[in-house]
Amino acid sequence: MIKVDLISDTATRPSAAMLAAMAAAPTGDEQLNEDPTVLALLGRSADLLGQEAAVFLPTGTMCNQISLLVHCRPGDEIVAGFNTHIHGSEGAGAAALAGALIYPVPTATGIFTAADVAAAARPLRQRSPRTRVVAIEQTTNRGGGRVWPLEMLQAVSAEARKRGFAVHMDGARLMNAVIASGVPAADYGRLCDSVWLDFTKGLACPVGAVLAGSKDFIAEAWFWKHRLGGAMRQAGVLAAAALHALDNHVERLAEDHVNARLFGSLATMVPGVAIDPPEVETNIVFLDVTGTGLAAIAINEALKRRGVRLNVEGPHRLRAVTHRDVTRAGIEEAGASLAAVVAELAGQPQPLR
Ligand SMILES: *Cc1c(COP(=O)(O)O)cnc(C)c1O
Repeated sequence: MIKVDLISDTATRPSAAMLAAMAAAPTGDEQLNEDPTVLALLGRSADLLGQEAAVFLPTGTMCNQISLLVHCRPGDEIVAGFNTHIHGSEGAGAAALAGALIYPVPTATGIFTAADVAAAARPLRQRSPRTRVVAIEQTTNRGGGRVWPLEMLQAVSAEARKRGFAVHMDGARLMNAVIASGVPAADYGRLCDSVWLDFTKGLACPVGAVLAGSKDFIAEAWFWKHRLGGAMRQAGVLAAAALHALDNHVERLAEDHVNARLFGSLATMVPGVAIDPPEVETNIVFLDVTGTGLAAIAINEALKRRGVRLNVEGPHRLRAVTHRDVTRAGIEEAGASLAAVVAELAGQPQPLR
């Protein structure tokens, strides 16, 4: 049985208080805009994100895909970091649904500059693709949970808007960035034309995400929501979980960040294990286990037998994500298990690779 699940912050279970809030929620037909709890969530989310309006969606992936569908016509181009969710983890939806291509900016951190946007922008000539959107991820998941500094986002947004490109923010972990930086979500959100927030990551809800933008943008998003089959009915039960999370699970993200730093420091005490990036900014820690001579998958399998699970991200790379259902004691246990597993496996002959 997995006791300390660091595979992702999606591993959280709804708390008893959250389930009670869900059970007590007044509901109506979401598709008809008649669910009072959903409407309350949308008003609050639009304000939080510095936008005019919002729409409730089942997943963050759908928020990304609908945004691209609204911003792009077939053949248009999206500027996005190489190792982003939009580029690598959405079934090539940008190509298959919006018909758009992605210009992947080669950035290990997931963060890029206004100069990168200028370099990626296609020349305005008949045969060039039309650059339409600049997509950024806050925080950067595979970039190591890093926070886009406000000034860098301001510069990228200004460069994009000067050229007539829309700015889209994948805010799966936006509230982690808010807690880590002290910058209000609306200050990031106002620099964007579409921005969304996931409730199923650190905010610890079972389902749901909110996409925000101008009134016109959201009206178009509703069209695509229907076309993709994403309208809902008594979704107030889900919105109630999200409202509960906004009230109770935002400030506590600081605890996840402390736990992630602790796990990072325990991991670096294990011979042959390094963390990359070396600084833990939010709730994500990447381990580089090259120095152990062991395969990441072998380490993870041995950890699982001890009730600890990370995510394998490459032959020598593992990711740990802290969340509400992992305590400080759990992190200490995970650190001790990692040390034990590496010592144990290092003493055994390894298969040739
Ligand atoms: C999880 C994640 C998504 C997708 O969100 P879902 O709600 O799982 O569809 C998108 N972007 C990033 C950066 C993520 O971490």
